[in-house]
Amino acid sequence: MCGIVGVYGHSEAANITYLGLHALQHRGQEAAGIVTSDGDKFHLSKREGLVGDAFSRGELEGLPGHLAIGHVRYSTAGDSSLRNAQPFAVEYAHGSLAVAHNGNLVNAAELRRRLEMDGSIFQSSTDSEVIVHLLARGREPDIETRIVNALRQVEGAYSLVFLAESKLIAARDPRGFRPLLLGRLKDAFVFASESVAFDLIEAEFIREVEPGEVVVVDAKGLRSFKPWTEESKRFCVFEHVYFARPDSFIDGRSVYRVRMQLGATLAKEHPVEADVVVPVPDSGTAAAIGFARASGIPYDQGLIRSHYVGRTFIEPQQSIRHFGVKLKLNAVRDVVSGKRVVIIDDSIVRGTTSRKIVKMIRNAGAKEVHVRISSPPTTHPCFYGIDTPTRSELIASSHTPDEIARYITCDSLGYLSRDGMMDAVASAGPPQSGKALPGASYCDACFTGHYPIEFKPGTISSLKRVVN
Ligand code: AMP
Repeated sequence: MCGIVGVYGHSEAANITYLGLHALQHRGQEAAGIVTSDGDKFHLSKREGLVGDAFSRGELEGLPGHLAIGHVRYSTAGDSSLRNAQPFAVEYAHGSLAVAHNGNLVNAAELRRRLEMDGSIFQSSTDSEVIVHLLARGREPDIETRIVNALRQVEGAYSLVFLAESKLIAARDPRGFRPLLLGRLKDAFVFASESVAFDLIEAEFIREVEPGEVVVVDAKGLRSFKPWTEESKRFCVFEHVYFARPDSFIDGRSVYRVRMQLGATLAKEHPVEADVVVPVPDSGTAAAIGFARASGIPYDQGLIRSHYVGRTFIEPQQSIRHFGVKLKLNAVRDVVSGKRVVIIDDSIVRGTTSRKIVKMIRNAGAKEVHVRISSPPTTHPCFYGIDTPTRSELIASSHTPDEIARYITCDSLGYLSRDGMMDAVASAGPPQSGKALPGASYCDACFTGHYPIEFKPGTISSLKRVVN
């Protein structure tokens, strides 16, 4: 759960990166960082917190250079301290190197143990640092080859931007779990996790970095190669369901349109007699519009979100999360009082949010409260870069929908089926502004337990345990 940006060849590379990160803030709110290169030296600024708070004008002015990479972080491996913030920058035998990573490596702990036995000293507990160590050991003269050889050893999900003194390199794993897009801003090349970053900086979208592709930008221009054997694509379906911004398009599809379609399919699969459709803002909004249109039940804003708190789940501690739901949402009595209400959200993780929302809506006078979820039950944790709790904490891993309905105290509960979700994604089609990638298929491991890459036991949690 991170966002990355790369800029090559712009006189205000730091400012452009800052704006790009701002647009990707939803992908991580724990820390933000930018590294620039003036062609000779690196300049680095990293802070905990939101992008807007992390960099003052003075700090951005202290980041000169035409090349930059940036990162917004939410920890899926490693704790949330500043030492784990990215980009990760080092000096090594071949000069300076920085990397920003979105994704999660499934064999990081194993590789790290091997590297440590060989004498490597790690500064952070992130899996991304493993890539840097592998790369630093490479003897090949050019950085592209060192990167490719390092990445050959890692398994899992990675969308990466690397910075060398006068080169920017982007890479995406062969299955393409996490998105990565290439764009152009006048003479500059830009990379970003989502198209919303291009909208803000007014860059033109060129294409997605393809799964398994390495793109190099330097004084010779842009070139790309695909050094790995082709794998079947496994874009993360949860990016569409929840994680990406609805005004983005990823893997060739409008996230907003996908979510509307998820809601419309949900209305067909789980119809309900009700007076009003209420989204859980913002995650359920587009699906609720789709549900309302398909069902003919009026849509209304029965819950108002305070925009001055982060996503509730994003705070790593349970006590804060509980408090957070009340901080974040409040019911509109005028909308729900005396009504049969259908609440739409994208997913139920632990069940705490839905339970509190149902109570809130009832307390505001609703006659009935029905809950509809625009994805299947979340039964399995993600090992590829979305923060999900352990299996035992996922309520749907050990409870049936009926049991969950009783726990969250709603009158009825309906989840979208797995096939309904996939049909909805497919039928949303490619948007006019994007180009669909051929042969797209999705990773749905969090809903099915079908993991496209075997998870090496203990990787993420043991990495945390070993180092912290
Ligand atoms: P919970 O209270 O644990 O059931 O959380 C459910 C809420 O968390 C829903 O409103 C989702 O939109 C949101 N959510 C789902 N997955 C995630 C995630 N990986 N990180 C943050 N929030 C999430």
